[in-house]
Amino acid sequence: MDIDKQNVSLGVMEKITSLAKRRGFIFQGSEIYGGYQGFWDYGPAGVEMKNNIKKEWWKYMVSEQENVVGIDAAIIMNPKVWEKSGHLKAFTDPLVECKVCNKRFREDSEDSISEHEKTHKDEKDIWTKAKTFNLMTEVLLGTTEPKEKSYLRGEITQGAFVNFKNVVDSNRVKIPFGIAQIGKAFRNEITPGNLTFRSREFEQMELEYFVKPSDGESKETFEYFKEMRKKWYESLGIDPKKLRFHDHEPDKIAHYARYATDLEYEAPFGWSEFEGIHHRGDYDLKNHGLTYKDNLTGEEFTPWVIETSGGVDRAMLFFLIDAYTEDGERVYLKLNPRISPYKVAVFPLLANKPELLSKARDVYKDLKANFNVVWDDRGNIGKRYFAQDEIGTPWCVTVDFESLDDNTVTVRDRDTASQERIAIDNLSEYFQNRLRK
Ligand code: ATP
Repeated sequence: MDIDKQNVSLGVMEKITSLAKRRGFIFQGSEIYGGYQGFWDYGPAGVEMKNNIKKEWWKYMVSEQENVVGIDAAIIMNPKVWEKSGHLKAFTDPLVECKVCNKRFREDSEDSISEHEKTHKDEKDIWTKAKTFNLMTEVLLGTTEPKEKSYLRGEITQGAFVNFKNVVDSNRVKIPFGIAQIGKAFRNEITPGNLTFRSREFEQMELEYFVKPSDGESKETFEYFKEMRKKWYESLGIDPKKLRFHDHEPDKIAHYARYATDLEYEAPFGWSEFEGIHHRGDYDLKNHGLTYKDNLTGEEFTPWVIETSGGVDRAMLFFLIDAYTEDGERVYLKLNPRISPYKVAVFPLLANKPELLSKARDVYKDLKANFNVVWDDRGNIGKRYFAQDEIGTPWCVTVDFESLDDNTVTVRDRDTASQERIAIDNLSEYFQNRLRK
């Protein structure tokens, strides 16, 4: 990356970070104590947006599918799970340490490594040999010493495998079928950074799809899910030109995968993964000693697994980056209304006129029954538009003196800044139609 490009890029990330804090999307974790590296808190706008992303994912990957069921497994599992899954041995990153200042880096984070080398220009041979570093986060459980060592899950995936038999026995599922899950995962990352991109606590949304052990069928399923996942990001507004697949080279492939590809986004800090599509073969079910019996044919076999594993936090970060728009003086988040934190903002033109206030409160309460609506009566209308633009609220409704006479309001569109007059009685239908688009 040349220096100019890097400065521009850093500019965008700084702007997003500052907007995320200013408008209540993302705060530094434990900020009043100086923060805690790799941990983030979501504010009022952030949690709405994150919930919308998860809702959209669940609708697309579970509710609209005929053969996918969901689970919600525990974060802490019997440590045997991690032994069998290979995570205690192989869930590692290569760590190098600077001999001059003892800072630690992932050996494969080329940008950070070369950046750091610039700070010790006159020194030679500053790196220690790479050591493997396990990413699992240890926890101690129990009341008597020695306490039992366990782990916060490093991926949510194993929950689907250890419940494979429970799901088959308690549901009318037949191969091929999928188990879906959204939940927190924890990794003791060496170099957390780029806002929430690499955190130590994050959320994943995953589908484990079980198919017959067949090269042809599993390859077809793999290709199907690749396209399906890309389409989902595009349907929620990500610029298709900023999406690409990056196949894993055989020597860099995860310990559990036969082959794998990453869906990447062109972030200001370079092309970066936000979802992995993995062919896990029979690796996991075999390790856990689980098989499947076809009740019709009596055939027993170990299914193969195709996995789509996305990060909720990375998806949200990339949605924010992609939606960030500067247009002259105006800054707005051009978020797809389905994921924007609030759908509508309602304002009285003047906050000190009781008749405007009361009418606007009625409109607000009516809309609130169907949409996520926000109220604002501070400052002037221009400032309120400015704030809602930065939050990404697609429509602002203003109740003015004309509203008192003819029961209409002004609806202002975030992306075009154009305004139209709509009858209050038609407002719900008006927004409903636009949200369906
Ligand atoms: P990376 O190579 O960036 O470390 P990974 O290949 O180890 O990621 P996976 O194990 O495939 O990631 O996890 C699936 C998804 O979980 C990733 O695509 C990403 O969206 C999310 N994810 C993984 N690690 C983190 C993290 N430290 N912070 C935020 N999201 C993460």
